[in-house]
Amino acid sequence: MPEISLHATETLAEADRLMTICNSCRYCEGLCAVFPAMEMRRSFGDGDLNYLANLCHACGACYTDCQFSPPHEFNVNVPKVLAAARAQSYAAYAWPRALAPFFGRNGLFVAVVAALGVAAFVAGFIAVSAPGALTRVETGPGAFYRIMPHDAMAALFGAAFAYALVAMAMGLRNFWRDIGEPAGTLAQPRPLWQAVKDAGSLRYLDGGGAGCVNADERPSNGRRHSHHATFYGFMLCLAATSVATLYHYAGREAPYPWWDLPVVLGTIGGLGLIVGPAGLFVAKLRRDPEIADAERFGMETAFLAMLAATGLSGFGVLILRETSALGLTLALHLGIVFALFLTMPYGKFVHGLYRFAALVRYARERADDSTEIAADPPVATTGQGGARR
Ligand code: SF4
Ligand code: SF4
Repeated sequence: MPEISLHATETLAEADRLMTICNSCRYCEGLCAVFPAMEMRRSFGDGDLNYLANLCHACGACYTDCQFSPPHEFNVNVPKVLAAARAQSYAAYAWPRALAPFFGRNGLFVAVVAALGVAAFVAGFIAVSAPGALTRVETGPGAFYRIMPHDAMAALFGAAFAYALVAMAMGLRNFWRDIGEPAGTLAQPRPLWQAVKDAGSLRYLDGGGAGCVNADERPSNGRRHSHHATFYGFMLCLAATSVATLYHYAGREAPYPWWDLPVVLGTIGGLGLIVGPAGLFVAKLRRDPEIADAERFGMETAFLAMLAATGLSGFGVLILRETSALGLTLALHLGIVFALFLTMPYGKFVHGLYRFAALVRYARERADDSTEIAADPPVATTGQGGARR
């Protein structure tokens, strides 16, 4: 008689098997948040496993520390299995559902949308600002908007951004429901603040203190630093755009001088968007193949490429804005940013949302569990992290 699985996928069934072994072993409980969260459970439904998968930061430490990793017959490979479960959860939560397959061939999807985005802006500039939209020199306040009217730019990007926000909010709602967390948790300031601190410092991307595992078995914090550069670079670019929008409606039109706040924020942020993704790509190449999620290489690389292209093309606009290359460079930059917004809900970007939500839940659970932990402190392990984190 065929075995009946209690799980929706083979990956989740395998994650259940591993978590059951880990829950007996508990050697890694000091490495990150996943193991303490696991210890709060005796059995693992699909929602629990998706929660743990999104709580994992893929540092790899529990693979190198594990006495049951291959070639042991238990074949315990937590980072790889949770990475696969995590990626499958992104597609499962996608909104609208019909677009979930974009997670599958994500590299191709992102490349096509980016190419179409750039082509559409080139064609749009020619149609709206002909003749010579792509080659004429425009300088002084309002130079950009003589190539593409501000209202058209605001409407297009506002719509794309609003769509991305709605799609990601719906995905987040699906995740929250799947893991069975009450909506009220999101209104509790303490778990929220704890999650902000944990996410902002990437607390659990440090391999229990030693750093992320690499193919040469020398842990390092390069991945963590590159992630910081990427995330804070992205936030600074958003801040630059927000300040520029305020300036515009206050009567000051772009482009702005080098020393002005939108340019300063955008320059620092743009540097982060180039250096950070480059570092993350190098870290990806250095990753131990045993724990690398090879199937998601395209999705992750496409996202890094889009972020780096956003930073590079932004610098292109800044450097070439007083030359005849402005039109083409601006079309390239706007096309890439537009494509980034449209593809955000269907690519690697969503990992930040679900991981943050998982951290909120973990903070809530940890607070609820603290009395029990205080009454029954864990025995210090010989793992890298020692006691629960
Ligand atoms: S050593 Fe860590 S990864 Fe291996 S079974 Fe124990 S808890 Fe799980
Ligand atoms: S130790 Fe690292 S790879 Fe292992 S479960 Fe924790 S965050 Fe994930």
